[in-house]
Amino acid sequence: MTLMLTIRAGAVAIALALFAAAAAHAAAPAVKSQAPGYYRMMLGDFEVTALSDGTVGLEVEKLLTRTTPPQTKRALGRAFLKDPVETSVNGYLVNTGSKLVLIDAGAGKLFGPTLGGLVASLKAAGYQPEQIDEIYITHMHPDHVGGLAADGKAVFPNAVVRADKHDADFWLSQKTLDAAPKDEKGFIEGAMASLKPYVDAGKFKAFDSDTELAPGVKAVATHGHTPGHAIYVVESKGQKLVLWGDLIHVAAVQFPNPAVTIKFDSDSKAAAAQRKKAFADAAKGGYWVGAAHLAFPGIGHLRTESSGYAFVPANYSVPR
Ligand SMILES: [Zn+2]
Repeated sequence: MTLMLTIRAGAVAIALALFAAAAAHAAAPAVKSQAPGYYRMMLGDFEVTALSDGTVGLEVEKLLTRTTPPQTKRALGRAFLKDPVETSVNGYLVNTGSKLVLIDAGAGKLFGPTLGGLVASLKAAGYQPEQIDEIYITHMHPDHVGGLAADGKAVFPNAVVRADKHDADFWLSQKTLDAAPKDEKGFIEGAMASLKPYVDAGKFKAFDSDTELAPGVKAVATHGHTPGHAIYVVESKGQKLVLWGDLIHVAAVQFPNPAVTIKFDSDSKAAAAQRKKAFADAAKGGYWVGAAHLAFPGIGHLRTESSGYAFVPANYSVPR
């Protein structure tokens, strides 16, 4: 009897141990990665692909100007966000049918380890860096040009790079570098190193303000955030997408109040004026907009709301 009880107790113990082992294996370990970083839509005959370079935490309460940290906190709260705000860095690929155009190149290695994923997103989207014909840069801050070069070589070996001459004259000038305060030299050196392989190969071509760069793609001068900041208007078959670059950094704050500026602005007054003009035009025109730091894919529409604007993100769609 005692022996039987002992055997039974042993069997129960083994069964419990097996059950515990099975339970321990029942939950799969969390994968902790995101879906491939691209989102595709058609715009008339053009194929537009948003490409994620990654995200980076921005301490926006410190960075935003012409406002106060409590006001920023309140606006973030309304969007269920907290400082630092996980901020997207997006590039946009436009296949016009005759040209493959990349708008902004991401940060490469210039803005920390959480960015620099644009080429991986491009490949996931079915394209190779060698296929890019032209690259249009909104402005020469490191999170927009850093991805152009790696180890001193062009990442996009067959591409011609275009940017507004006012940005090139500023960011690629030895004079600017010499005159810059010590803590601002890094941005300028980053721009120079990123553009260098293209400049050396005769593949960097500046343009002066409003310019048609390819059929259906034109640059519009929006100087302010940087001396030569440009936005790009993409149009096909009556459909229009305006890629805003850095006309906006913090959606939760600057859509309701476009007067709020950021420390990265070269000329914050001009930057705010450009933002207001672009927002008013987008709300009136009802066309698509996209921006480098709106939550990926950063494409949607704008409408007026109380004294500011509301962004309506694109309805998820699958091109057919
Ligand atoms: Zn930026």
